[in-house]
Amino acid sequence: MAIQTQNPATGKVIKTFEAYSDAQVDHDIENSLSAHEILRDWSFERRAEAMLKAADILEDEADRLGEIMTLEMGKTFKGAKAEAKKCAWVCRHYAETAEDYLADEMIESGASKSYRKYLPLGPVLAVMPWNYPFWQVMRFAAPALMAGNTGLLKHASNVPQCALAIEDVFNRAGFPDGAFTALLIGGSKVERILRDDRVRAATLTGSEPAGASVASICGEEIKPTVLELGGSDPFIIMPSADLEEAVKVGTTARTQNNGQSCIAAKRFFVHADIYDDVKSRFVEAFEALKIGDPMKDETDIGPLVNKDGRDTISKQVDNALKDGAKRVTGAEPMDGDGYYFKPGIIENIPESSDAYHEEIFGPVMLLFKVESLDKAIKIANASPFGLGSSVWTTDKAEQEEAIRRIEAGATFINSMTASDPRLPFGGIKRSGYGRELAAEGIRAFCNVKTVSIA
Ligand code: NAP
Repeated sequence: MAIQTQNPATGKVIKTFEAYSDAQVDHDIENSLSAHEILRDWSFERRAEAMLKAADILEDEADRLGEIMTLEMGKTFKGAKAEAKKCAWVCRHYAETAEDYLADEMIESGASKSYRKYLPLGPVLAVMPWNYPFWQVMRFAAPALMAGNTGLLKHASNVPQCALAIEDVFNRAGFPDGAFTALLIGGSKVERILRDDRVRAATLTGSEPAGASVASICGEEIKPTVLELGGSDPFIIMPSADLEEAVKVGTTARTQNNGQSCIAAKRFFVHADIYDDVKSRFVEAFEALKIGDPMKDETDIGPLVNKDGRDTISKQVDNALKDGAKRVTGAEPMDGDGYYFKPGIIENIPESSDAYHEEIFGPVMLLFKVESLDKAIKIANASPFGLGSSVWTTDKAEQEEAIRRIEAGATFINSMTASDPRLPFGGIKRSGYGRELAAEGIRAFCNVKTVSIA
């Protein structure tokens, strides 16, 4: 895949980058190791000073950085600016909490003193996707650097300018040279890096095939991995819910980031007693969405990332319709320049159809009528994925049942699944393993050393 900036709103290639040579990558890995040897000896206070500076840059320059994101992957400019600010939040969070998260933990034993000590591992390779081109990277990088690790970023090939801009943020923030390096390389060059002894661990956010490939190589190399993969998250609405709020939030949960979010609500299960009412409210909300130039403030939905992305979603919808599903509104590619796709809703999806459980990475709501919470949970769990889930009910017993039975890394009650630096984030089943954010995120790439003093 060419490493290039192609504006999804026009289809025009803006800039093409030459991939780094193996020699350049080797040099960058060596630099990353040297930077780790410096950073691991920095106090938390000194690391925090640089991390807070990174946060300031992200916030102060949110407009400039947001414009790069919108140009390269088509998210709305307002969403891109919010993303830059959320990145500042995760930097501040770890600047303020790293020392506590990684404090020695005393353990009672027969020795005079025993404890857990969290120590950094060294250079970590991060293979990242384009959909939240700053956030996905920063939620790894902020805790990793605060722990004393260094980051090597292999970003998606369509967001090279975002990759270089993030590297620039860390350099200007005052981290040692090489502490965070963007490698402009294609996916085929990842194996060579994973097999390099100087690289101690890897994290991948992206599709299942990419995750399986990285995990199997790391398995052979005995290196720890974190995998954040796809999802087909359920959004369940029961009769006791605040329907106005559920529909408003559900529309956002399915369509934000032009529908291209791993934790987007993708399959909506609505109780039969309120189905027709909820369906007509969703139709109204979807038809009111403003599709257009992602740079304009009034735009809700910009283009999809590229032609492949749009073709894949169009085909998934066509297949579902062939299998017997019914189009309620929209859900079709739009004419004209750029990779625009009209947000839409389909229903009556038969169990035999792939759409019943697969991930649709675009603004298509799959609507299911269910007789009970039990049925909703059963269909939700029939998916191979298990990332997030959102359940709308004011009934405490239903809330408890959903929390206990839904197979997912997170259940949000009466709100949409969202990432937050304070909350652990990750999936189970084919959505991956390991956790980012919170204490788990910073400990993921640490050696939990047992210390015992006789
Ligand atoms: P992708 O094709 O897997 O790409 C993700 C990254 O992996 C890119 O940097 C890509 O590089 C690289 N890559 C692809 N194949 C590889 C291989 N065989 N070996 C090594 N690296 C490889 O995924 P995507 O289409 O960009 O992203 C969409 C998917 O990511 C969706 O399934 C979505 O749900 C998931 N996602 C999950 C999370 C989460 O937190 N769980 C968050 C966001 C997205 P190239 O660009 O050079 O191919």
